[in-house]
Amino acid sequence: MKQSVKLVAGNWKMNGLGASLGEAEALAKALQEQAAACRVALCPPATLTERMARVLEGSAVELGGQDCHAEASGAFTGSVSAGMLVDAGAALVILGHSERRAGFGETDADVAAKVEAALAAGLEPIICIGETLEQREAGQAVEIVSRQVAGSLPDGLSGKAFAVAYEPVWAIGTGLTPTLEQIEEVHAAVRAAMVAKLGEGGRVAPILYGGSVKPSNAAEILAVAEVGGALVGGASLKAEDFLGIIRAA
Ligand code: PEP
Repeated sequence: MKQSVKLVAGNWKMNGLGASLGEAEALAKALQEQAAACRVALCPPATLTERMARVLEGSAVELGGQDCHAEASGAFTGSVSAGMLVDAGAALVILGHSERRAGFGETDADVAAKVEAALAAGLEPIICIGETLEQREAGQAVEIVSRQVAGSLPDGLSGKAFAVAYEPVWAIGTGLTPTLEQIEEVHAAVRAAMVAKLGEGGRVAPILYGGSVKPSNAAEILAVAEVGGALVGGASLKAEDFLGIIRAA
């Protein structure tokens, strides 16, 4: 299914201190001045959400978190709830990023619980899935992402605003990308898994591609069937690169 308005979301990860904060603010200001044909979102570290909300006030650029806890409040030292992100100015939240799955042991069930918490707080979740290099080389990419869709999308998601992001783990931050045919194959499988899980409601949400998207490959990736936008890591930290991707969308 072809999405008319694509979503390009920047994941700043744990960056944005010192000189890079200055760069980040300059980037946010540059985004404000750039008329975009797509939805644009920035996902800074949680501590910068409110600051970026001030910088972006009055612009169409949306803000997102990079994770949230599945509970609304309580004894969860170090965690941030979905409601807290909303309070700081976020409208979206990235959930189940491979760095959280690998580094913090998040399972599909954990991700599904976080998606429910995000929806309850009024956030639009961007649910990340993707195979490792080992799984890709074993010919398991489609099987893995289909299983992740079935497990990470909670029942009742149908009709809600959300996105899925297909991010092959081996393409994140490496400069490597799948071929356009591989992207098309996996996106078609993700859509089929979404429909199997959610019924007709699974046809609506965009499926973003993420993994080493840059200005030079954005247009061709974004033109692939079922690619409804991009989740961008490294290139979202540099105004020139991020704006180049936004112009391609
Ligand atoms: C990401 O971390 O979600 C990502 C896609 O990173 P990069 O664009 O740097 O590969």
